[in-house]
Amino acid sequence: MEANNFIEEIINGELAEGKVETVHTRFPPEPNGYLHIGHAKSLCLNFGTAEKYGGLCNLFFDDTNPSKEKTEFVDAIKADIEWLGFKWYEVHYASDFFDVIYEKAVKLIKDGKAFVCDLSAEEISATRGTLTEPGKESPYRNRSVEENLALFEDMRAGKFADGAKVLRAKIDMASPNINMRDPVIYRVLRATHHRTGDKWCIYPMYDFAHPICDSMQGITHSLCTLEFEDHRPLYNWVVENTGVEHKPRQIEFARLNITNTVMSKRYLKKLVEDGSVTGWDDPRMPTLTGLRSRGVPAEALKNFCEAIGIAKANSEIEVGYFEHFIRDYLNAHAERAMAVENPIKVEITNFPDAEENEDFEINPNDESAGKRQITMGREIYIEGDDFSLDPPPKYFRLRVGGYVRLKNAYIIKCEEAVSGKDGEVEKLLCTYVPESKSGNDTSGIKVKGVIHWVNAKNAVDCEIRKYDYLLRDAEYSGQDFSERLNTDSVHSFFGKAEPYLAEVSEGTSFQLMRKGYYKKKTENGKLVLSEIVSLKDGYKPQGK
Ligand code: ATP
Ligand code: MG
Repeated sequence: MEANNFIEEIINGELAEGKVETVHTRFPPEPNGYLHIGHAKSLCLNFGTAEKYGGLCNLFFDDTNPSKEKTEFVDAIKADIEWLGFKWYEVHYASDFFDVIYEKAVKLIKDGKAFVCDLSAEEISATRGTLTEPGKESPYRNRSVEENLALFEDMRAGKFADGAKVLRAKIDMASPNINMRDPVIYRVLRATHHRTGDKWCIYPMYDFAHPICDSMQGITHSLCTLEFEDHRPLYNWVVENTGVEHKPRQIEFARLNITNTVMSKRYLKKLVEDGSVTGWDDPRMPTLTGLRSRGVPAEALKNFCEAIGIAKANSEIEVGYFEHFIRDYLNAHAERAMAVENPIKVEITNFPDAEENEDFEINPNDESAGKRQITMGREIYIEGDDFSLDPPPKYFRLRVGGYVRLKNAYIIKCEEAVSGKDGEVEKLLCTYVPESKSGNDTSGIKVKGVIHWVNAKNAVDCEIRKYDYLLRDAEYSGQDFSERLNTDSVHSFFGKAEPYLAEVSEGTSFQLMRKGYYKKKTENGKLVLSEIVSLKDGYKPQGK
């Protein structure tokens, strides 16, 4: 198997040496929020690697922190993974292994490798030392095995207040790696767990629980993000000292960061709680449920994750690069339709009274999509911005005395702009060139501009909704997220849409010609065309 990244190189080596038979990975979310684009990278890596090697991938809920975890999040995470089309082999929860983890802690105590410590959290952190100075041993470090066993049992039985005592691994207070300086592995915490209820009042720490859970599931490669690199010696220490049979291996990879995008669950939760967004599924949110409600296809997200690859160094990806994959997918798969924003009425004074029907290509990139009819009549609407009374240089759209082509129809000439009472343009009087029909143009007139339009007779009112990024970037980077929040990121415009858009099913994605990719929604009986991504592609693929 050809290796596409450093993790696959490692796996290839292990397979060749016979160290590993079946590759078994897991995706390990903490159910304390919704998944975001960063998790998609981890999902694609874990599920993708297992699939490539004919292996297995579990879904593993890291629920060792009961105060923040909820069943609501468990269900949402499952739904998001299903949306991406991944199928887990088994689903497990750290809480399923609480008994085993407890036994492993008892084993460490019996082996003289863990002790109950009475220092407070502040005292532990004050005696941990620094990168240049060793830490100070706890005065409780040399308690006897019997005393430790009894105290740990009492911790479990609820005889101590929260935070009064912890269990610490006895490793090395002088280790150059601070994570190895007698880390806390169990704490007293009275919190109702979303699965085990009040059965436990002590909970294992992530660093202790995770390797044991990996081992119990038969995980071969425990893939995690770079900030856990310094925890790997502890991971290995737990694997080596708890007597687990199966020995998993931790490998770290770089986190995904994207410009104009925040990916910390803590901050996303804050946006939801303070009402900055309508919910976890707000179309501006970088959550998977937000992307889904925005209309981003799962395939586009997966293509993006594949393209960015897996590296060992952190970096920040341009949000335009992600958008490029959304456009790329929708360009090939989305139907074309027309809608105009801030419409101006156009009367074509020499057009016959009868309507004219026209077959309209649904998607020029997909012949099998077929055609549908659009109609043209004496009165149409064009987009407000496609006419100018005082056109700037190089303005190729409509002006008084100028020509423009109506997409898939005729060339028209603007004869007069009629103003209303307030001086605003109310209506344009135009003439059309009958022999200029698209595909059969014998008029000899050369026009530079092509604009979209809808038939006034059957067009339906709609709201055209556009989005800005939730986070401002560039000059704001480095500042606190709350200062970067763009409080003006939803923009609504009145529009007129071809009737087809009112008929198609809810959630369908379209390319609104010359505008962008939009998703059809209905809100309070009203047609809303909600932007997925604009047409402008700021991203230039390398070498093109
Ligand atoms: P957050 O800081 O957003 O809460 P987390 O790492 O605490 O993220 P988890 O639910 O623990 O969130 O993450 C599950 C998995 O997804 C972990 O393996 C984690 O490393 C990975 N992951 C989370 N964020 C990213 C990211 N931005 N890029 C790549 N992988 C990520
Ligand atoms: Mg986490």
